[in-house]
Amino acid sequence: MMEKTEIKKEMETLKKELLATKKNTYATLGADELEASYDYAKGYMSFLDAGKTERECVYSAQKMLEKEGFKPYTFGMKVSAGEKYYYNNRAKSFVAFVVGSESLENGVYFTASHIDSPRVDLKQHPLYENEGIGYLKTHYYGGIKKYQWTAIPLALHGAVTKKNGETIDVVIGEDENDPIFYISDLLPHLAGDQMKKSLGDGISGEQLNLIAGSRPFGDLAEKDAVKLNVMKLLNEKYGIIEEDFLSAELSAVPAFKSRDVGLDRSLIASYGHDDRVCAYPSLTALIEMEAPKHTVMAVLADKEEIGSEGNTGMQSQVYFDIIADLAKALGASDIVVRANSKCLSSDVNAAFDPNFPEPMERNNCCYINNGVVITKYTGARGKSGSNDASAEFCGYVRRVLDEAGVIWQTGELGKVDAGGGGTVAKYIASKNVDVIDLGVPVLSMHSPYEVVSKTDVYMTHKAIKAFFEA
Ligand code: MN
Ligand code: MN
Repeated sequence: MMEKTEIKKEMETLKKELLATKKNTYATLGADELEASYDYAKGYMSFLDAGKTERECVYSAQKMLEKEGFKPYTFGMKVSAGEKYYYNNRAKSFVAFVVGSESLENGVYFTASHIDSPRVDLKQHPLYENEGIGYLKTHYYGGIKKYQWTAIPLALHGAVTKKNGETIDVVIGEDENDPIFYISDLLPHLAGDQMKKSLGDGISGEQLNLIAGSRPFGDLAEKDAVKLNVMKLLNEKYGIIEEDFLSAELSAVPAFKSRDVGLDRSLIASYGHDDRVCAYPSLTALIEMEAPKHTVMAVLADKEEIGSEGNTGMQSQVYFDIIADLAKALGASDIVVRANSKCLSSDVNAAFDPNFPEPMERNNCCYINNGVVITKYTGARGKSGSNDASAEFCGYVRRVLDEAGVIWQTGELGKVDAGGGGTVAKYIASKNVDVIDLGVPVLSMHSPYEVVSKTDVYMTHKAIKAFFEA
């Protein structure tokens, strides 16, 4: 018979050896790495404030990389080891890479994240007037809870191509002295009927109309005088006319800046963490690659929130055209290159929210401050639409992260049958590339103001760097 104290001792040993434990970053990281996390957040927050649309993120990324010696890539170029390039795809998606010293046929090690976020886009004929108020009509982009977009300050971002072919950038509402745009909601006193509706029906898509003015042209309250005055002001500022809305991409996004959350400043609130919180670490990790062994690449894709469609979405051929073109330049077979390539589909996951525990399965969801999250499969209703990475590739990534001292966790998007979602992973897997999802846990995902943890963001940078260096 074993003594009780002996049993206890053995139990402790076995627990340590056999059972998995959750790792909180604050219980695991040293003071230097915690400090590094908070420092790293500063650069990330500037990136967030500078880029609220995919166009602006492409611009920021290009600026960041040009400073680090990256040069524009054009198809058919000669390239050699150690050289750094970026490819700006129609100002809306972006690829950057460093040519490795090894044969390209050993594979390209790349990340794929997206730089579009849910928002409220202007329609083609947006401007109208109703009872003396000038409005801009919208069609929302991506999965939003419509009621969250009312009664908050909104800024207008985008580009307009005029009839003469000139494209101008528009940003209204970010400067403290700028006016903002606004979607009104009903006062509670009169919202009896509205409050009986479901949250999903309380505000309809056609009610997401932005207030753009209320002062008539010439102070004469005539029909369409407010609309005319709004148009006149836009014309004065940007030289555009009403017809130019037809060739424009204008989006209303939250006018908030990113802010620290909590007295300890451990968290960051911002619009558009999904998925700039993975795009930014991909860029910073790439910047730190001096003379890598493998060719390493960061893909910042557009249109993930609407199905990765279009020539700037992840389903576009352009990303694999670049790989094929590199193969050609380096005398490699692009079939072999893809077969040996590895990818982190770098996207966010839903963090467990103690305020909303119901849709989460506590053993398998991810947690704030538990590090970067590996998501083996996404999908809905029986993993439908999921990439579902192989045991071998999961094992590989796990090994790489452990060896680099990265704090990581796994996560599944909520309970089975609670809902679901997808990422770009499956489009990359279909090209015969090993791919797994890896990213940052997010609270209030797809809301106008999402929240992430500084240590988780930093662990994502470290994870991607380790993957590039492996
Ligand atoms: Mn995402
Ligand atoms: Mn999303």
